[in-house]
Amino acid sequence: MAANNKARVEAFMARLAWRNPGETEFHQAVREVAESLIPFLAERPQYETARVLERMTEPDRIITFRVTWQDDAGQVRVNRAWRVQFNNAIGPYKGGLRFHPATTQSVLKFLGFEQTLKNSLTGLPMGGAKGGANFNPRGKSEAEVMRFCQAMMRELHRHIGPDTDVPAGDIGVGAREIGFLFGAYLRLANRFTGVFTGKALAFGGSALRPEATGYGAVYFLREMLAASRDEVAGKTAVVSGSGNVALHAIEKLTEFGAKVVTASDSDGFIHDAHGIDTERLAWLKDLKQARRGRVAEYAEHFGCEYHEGARPWAVPCQLALPCATENELDDADARGMVGNGVRAVAEGANMPCTGDAVRTFTANRILFGPGKAANAGGVTVSGLEQSQNALRIAWSREEVDARLQRIMGDIHEKCCADGAGADGFVDYVRGANIAGFRKVADALLAYGAV
Ligand code: NDP
Repeated sequence: MAANNKARVEAFMARLAWRNPGETEFHQAVREVAESLIPFLAERPQYETARVLERMTEPDRIITFRVTWQDDAGQVRVNRAWRVQFNNAIGPYKGGLRFHPATTQSVLKFLGFEQTLKNSLTGLPMGGAKGGANFNPRGKSEAEVMRFCQAMMRELHRHIGPDTDVPAGDIGVGAREIGFLFGAYLRLANRFTGVFTGKALAFGGSALRPEATGYGAVYFLREMLAASRDEVAGKTAVVSGSGNVALHAIEKLTEFGAKVVTASDSDGFIHDAHGIDTERLAWLKDLKQARRGRVAEYAEHFGCEYHEGARPWAVPCQLALPCATENELDDADARGMVGNGVRAVAEGANMPCTGDAVRTFTANRILFGPGKAANAGGVTVSGLEQSQNALRIAWSREEVDARLQRIMGDIHEKCCADGAGADGFVDYVRGANIAGFRKVADALLAYGAV
């Protein structure tokens, strides 16, 4: 980056850090975008004059509230919850809810900011938001999770609606939690509307929504490989996580002929040299989704390696899909992976790779799909769920899958259009940031000073 642009990035980031003290995850997400956008904006003064980037890094509003509930022993428990309504320039706010003890305002601001650009990239009319609570679902009974969801919705219902803000799931919020949250909303609001996505098929959900993020990440990976005349089949893949995104990424990778050798949770990872084939994946799904067990049990059952307290990045592979959480893959991991011959990395999770790790991949010409492009499949099918709810129809699995594949292909094309360098190498980070920015920025320009 030219010296004057570097100085502009630093000045922009210094002002942002001063306005948002201590919010390190939010700073990190904005820096990655600012590094792509500031050189682009330098040649487009209309955006600078209208202070578009400043506006896009300041949430429209943040709602913070207390959630009081009772555990099974009758003890009163208190948690903090948030809804960060980041930007609705191109559609109603849209983004998931996260239940995890490490949830903070900074994490939700980074996620809401990323979501705004991601939703724009899909081409669907969706603004960006994120929410959640510092509630830890681990070890809680089903009745406790239900009481927590109902208590949270007593406040949240005032702030959401099909034309205002449409939440979905994220870490710790799956089909069960969406059922409890949507059920509570129905009682409070007395309106059956498409106010949530990720609903079960029985009450307005879309076919393929659970699979969409993981499948979408693999569709994006396939596009990146195809653009450099390569393919998924025959490659070894390393995946982190064993939640919604990871399980469906493993499923699609296997279907496309890759051998997936790892999965993880917050306690450690399994290394299965035989590969997590269809039969083993069915066992793992049952373990994680129905029995809510730990991946260590997979290692015990199938007699493979288990590495407690470790992450899977030292396992040699050509394809890597971090699908657990933010900052789970650092620069040392990235260097090791480059040394081991990694060919492509697609972020199933949001910001799983640190900034330095991303720079290492890019500097070594590794195909790198950032989360806002690679994991956009989830929100894409959420957008399709909203359309189906509004039209009061339900598309078949095949129809939704065809639309998902087409949209992931379109996102890939947009990234190439804005990210290809003179030598033909595509910087997908730059491409996704610029392509996602354009639509929101043009809407803000049209609205005047709002
Ligand atoms: P789940 O709750 O279904 O699964 C999360 C997985 O990541 C679990 O295996 C969990 O392990 C592991 N994990 C969570 N926190 C940590 C941590 N601090 N360290 C190590 N492992 C951790 O969530 P999802 O699969 O839905 O989400 C995963 C990622 O994908 C997140 O970054 C999310 O924002 C992103 N994403 C999700 C979308 C969706 O549609 N669900 C859409 C787009 C992005 P454990 O069981 O031990 O907690």
